[in-house]
Formats: sequence, C-alpha cells, structure tokens
Amino acid sequence: MIKIESKKNKFTYNVYHVTKAFYPKEDIVQTVDEKQEPLVKIHLPEGTCFSLAPEECVQTEDVQEEKRDVTKKVYQFLSKQTGQELAWGGMLTGVRPTKLVMQKIEQGMTKEEIFGFLKEQYCVGNKKAQIAYEIACREKALLDQLDCKNGYSLYAGIPFCPSICSYCSFSSSPITEWKDQVECYLDAMIKELKATAKLMQGKTLDTVYIGGGTPTTLEADQLDRLLGTIRENFDLEHVLEFTVEAGRPDSITREKLEVIRKYPVTRISVNPQTMQQKTLDLVGRKHTVEDVEQIFHLARELGFDNINMDLIAGLPGEDAADMQDTLEKIEKLHPDSLTVHALAIKRAAKFGQEGRTMDPGTEITQMVEAAAVSAERMGLVPYYLYRQKNIAGNFENVGYAEQDKAGGVYNILIMEEKQAILACGAGASTKRVWNLPDGYHIERCENVKDIKQYIARIDEMIERKKHFLRRIENEKYLLKRAGTLFVH
Ligand code: SF4
Repeated sequence: MIKIESKKNKFTYNVYHVTKAFYPKEDIVQTVDEKQEPLVKIHLPEGTCFSLAPEECVQTEDVQEEKRDVTKKVYQFLSKQTGQELAWGGMLTGVRPTKLVMQKIEQGMTKEEIFGFLKEQYCVGNKKAQIAYEIACREKALLDQLDCKNGYSLYAGIPFCPSICSYCSFSSSPITEWKDQVECYLDAMIKELKATAKLMQGKTLDTVYIGGGTPTTLEADQLDRLLGTIRENFDLEHVLEFTVEAGRPDSITREKLEVIRKYPVTRISVNPQTMQQKTLDLVGRKHTVEDVEQIFHLARELGFDNINMDLIAGLPGEDAADMQDTLEKIEKLHPDSLTVHALAIKRAAKFGQEGRTMDPGTEITQMVEAAAVSAERMGLVPYYLYRQKNIAGNFENVGYAEQDKAGGVYNILIMEEKQAILACGAGASTKRVWNLPDGYHIERCENVKDIKQYIARIDEMIERKKHFLRRIENEKYLLKRAGTLFVH
C-alpha cells in the first residue's frame, strides 16, 4: 500500500496518477491536511518516504503551473526510486500531446525547441516527442485545408448496440430492448437534423460522422431515411469525409452496406477489437472472427475503399502472443486505417469493478509496439493520437492511416478542437470554438442522454441548440466573455 498526504486538494489528482503509473498494482490511500508543512508526502511500500517542501517548488500564482511543478518533482523522485522512466512523462494526464505540440508549432517554435519544451516541462522522452511532433505536423497539413472559421462538422449518434460489451464506457443500449422505440428515436433525430441544417445555413460542412453506439443496428430502410435526410438537408459539396461507423460485424448486412453505398459515404469502420474468439466471447461481443472477415470482404466487394478497423490492447486474458495473432489476421485483410486503443478502465465498466490493472513496460507495451510495427508493414502512418484518463499503463491511443487517404479528419477535429461540431441525438454534445487572442475557447451544449427523455423533449433540445448558437453568435456576449472576438 502507498500513502499519499497532500497539503492541498488540487495536488491529489495528478500525484495519484503519476504514482499509479509507477506502481500500477499497489493500492493508494490519499489524505489532505492543510496544516501539514510539506506540499506532498509519499510513503512507499519499501519504507521510503518522499517529502516535498514548499520552497523546493516554483512560487507562482498560476495554479496549473504550480500543479505541474509539484507533479514533475514527484515524477523525478519516483523515476529515481524505481529506475524507470515513463515514455510520456508524468504530467500529460488529461493533456492531449498533439494539441500541445500544435500550439507550439503555431507559436513558431522549432522542432528542437518543442522537444526541449516537452522534456523540460513534461519529462517526455524523445521517442514520444518525435511521434507527437510528426502527428501534429500531419494534422496541421490537413486542418490547413479546412476553413475553420466558416466550416463545421456534423455528428449523428445512434445509441443502440447488438449487445453491450463489458468494457464499454459509452452510453449505449441493447437494440433488442428498444426495438419498438427506434422509429420514434429516428423521427426525433431527423427533426433535430433538419433544424440543425437550417441553423447552419451559409456555413460550410466539412465532415459528417454517424457514430454511436452502432449505427448499423438500424434496419436498412431506417439507415436510408437517416442518410437521405442528411443528403437532402445539408450541402455536401465540400464534405472531405463522410463516415458511417458500421462497427459491430453482427449488425452489418449486405442490404445495409448497399444502402450506405447509395450515399456519398467515404469511410466506414468494421471493428473487431480483437481477432481472438475466446476474448470476443468473454467481453460479450456476439460475433465471430469469421464474421469480421466476411463483412470486411463484403464491404470491399461493394466498393468501400476506406475501411477503418479498431483494436484494443489489454483486453482481459490477452497476452502479447494473442495481439500478434490478431495483427497477423488484420494484416491479411489490410484495412485502410487502423485505430489501436489501450483499454481504458472506467469505473462504470465491469473491468473497473474487478480492479484490473496492467503492468506498464510488459504485456501492453509489447502489444502497442507490435501494432505500430504491423501498421507500418501495411503502409499506414500515425495520423492522430490521444491519451485519456484511466488508460491502462502509461500509453496512448493511436490512429494509423494510408498517407494519401484523408483518413480520420473528424477524429482530428475532435482531438484538436479547432472547429464547431453540431451534434444530434441522445447525449450528443454540440461544440463551438472561438479563436481569441489568448487561444481557442470552447463552449458545449449537450442533449439529454436518456433516450426516452430525448424523444419526449426533442423540441426543447432543438430550442436549446438554437439558443446556444445565437448566444455564441452574439457580439455582446463574446465581448463580455473575452474582450475581443473572432467567432468560429
Ligand atoms: S460496440 Fe462499442 S458502443 Fe457498443 S457496447 Fe460495444 S463498446 Fe459499447
């Protein structure tokens, strides 16, 4: 057991996470005592005690700067104590590395200066700094093609799945329990889509993403209605990418794929997560490895030339050999993009309750590295990267894609937060971004998550969105908020 004593509550989150990254299997107990002298005290299982005096840290009014410095001192101590370095350092919890690098590129820093900044401020090693830098440059080249001021993306969410995977941290419901409500849900979402199209007249639609849940849990005629509504109501002329996340192979049929092909959809996903049958059975995905292969070939036969596949490293019971076998099977299929997630342990998911942790530097490192090698063999390069809280070990999620395909533009926009995203459906979150002299500012407007509430209160959701967009467009509001304006 490890005991952490903090003087202030504000240090607890980062200090906990950096300590957990070095000692993933240890239980950690935290206390806060405003009267104690040291900012942080850590009692390690081997009996060592670390104590950080206030005078050892930077004296600043900037809380973020103060927290980062405390975390850095804790990281340096734990690194020395364990003889380990964390590839991403210890301070990037909840920080998007590529977003940070992108900001520095935009501020005119050279590559060497950025590497120095990441090392000095965040203890990030050169290998990860190089990946973050390369991805940020690729993202920047892509984003430079978009009109961020007048452009926006559209998201439509289908919150149903064939069954609920045990690791799922999204809000999704089994389609079997909602069969008789799906039509009403679609009616409500179509109403919201039509209202959104009116609200965004005169703006340029850059990307469309149909996600969820699993959009292909809709029947073929329902998919037709949804995609038809988007085509009729939005100007798709400038759309760079139109994704339908087909997702679970057990929801995809030839008829549904044929419907999707009728529309200007440029990209679909067929997501196996793993090609190990024992794991698919264990996590509650009711499809086989053969289903994945068959649906992938069917999609190719029907002309889909941009297919993404998602994999998860660190699923229960899997070791590096399982991942290697999965990658070999994926390579035979040769998707156009591959997204590799390290399992995020969320409290809500069953794995969280089981308290599963993985040892960084062992199995999961090998899995993530094997996936990078496999992606390279397929000619795919990393194009986006994100790290999230509670991710197993000290790892990142990486999207790889063929260089000449505009893969994952929507994902990049989500990560880099440079453009408005108009989102429709239960729990969907609409986001506006404004570029002010002191950086990008973001405001969100969320629909209710509960499906029945969403259907019943659809007019209120539409009004809320209208009000939100008008308020953001309101010059007085912006002036009050930040002094000067430039709205996206
Ligand atoms: S398919 Fe995706 S959204 Fe649906 S239950 Fe599984 S993890 Fe959750």
